[in-house]
Amino acid sequence: MTFPRSTGWTVETLHDEYAQALREDAVFYDSETEHQRLRVFENGRFGRVLTLDGVVQTTEGDEFMYHEMLAHVPILAHGAARRVLVIGGGDGGMAREVLRHASVEHCTMVEIDAGVVDFSKEYLPALSDGVFDDPRLDLVIADGAAFMAEAHEPYDVIIVDSTDPIGPGEVLFTDSFYGHAAKLLSAEGILVTQNGVPFMQPGELQQTMRAFRALFADHGCYLTHVPSYAGGPMALGWGSHSAKARETDEEVLRTRFEAAEIKTRYYTPELHKAAFALPRYISDLINE
Ligand code: SAM
Repeated sequence: MTFPRSTGWTVETLHDEYAQALREDAVFYDSETEHQRLRVFENGRFGRVLTLDGVVQTTEGDEFMYHEMLAHVPILAHGAARRVLVIGGGDGGMAREVLRHASVEHCTMVEIDAGVVDFSKEYLPALSDGVFDDPRLDLVIADGAAFMAEAHEPYDVIIVDSTDPIGPGEVLFTDSFYGHAAKLLSAEGILVTQNGVPFMQPGELQQTMRAFRALFADHGCYLTHVPSYAGGPMALGWGSHSAKARETDEEVLRTRFEAAEIKTRYYTPELHKAAFALPRYISDLINE
């Protein structure tokens, strides 16, 4: 099959006053599902790029910087995570990183749009890398907020790998959603969330941190850097009923990381600890 060469650029319109443009060298897929518009194109620097409603979701080139930090930080901090819940994550990258841990016995992935899963398998196979065939994975096609409200089995780690709080993703940034997540966590469980780029989306992080302050004894955020999430470092929300996991020292993290025998391109035990050191503008933002 030959794909049409595109002479155009995708201009991302996530922000009112700032846009990033990525050259489209070839367009592989462009279609509306009942939930959102899916588009996958090739870019010389980022490889294949997935956008939903015109917003960059993940790229082959830099997805590891996001998926590794949102998966390995809570799992290695917890130290004995057996059951993990992923909300969103339709491209499969998050489940892939979670299930690289042989110690994880079960991963439930709740994705609202089967179209994202289906075409990611076909057009972005490197992201899921076969994880959809892993017997430990239970893929549920549903709204993550509805699932969370009904679920009863506790999880050791809950990862919200959602779109931004627009469209179907909006419900995943509400107090009620976070309240259900807090109830679903096991005693030393950890909730981590995709919380955007604070310099560009300060309100999104503040809203989540306000909810976490009311729900968790240990709350805050840590940082990763993903070039295609433009505008500065990206915040990953952290909430837990105990500070024990976040205070795990670097030597213990290193021992766990080495025992997991996972080769990473971004995550290191040193970076795990350093990621919680926030620049003043972000610590001020989350403490307002
Ligand atoms: N890494 C990306 C980011 O940081 O923006 C997110 C990638 S992943 C593609 C986001 C997924 O969240 C999409 O597959 C989308 O369909 C899913 N999603 C959005 N709203 C949802 C909801 N209410 N319940 C479950 N999944 C949802």
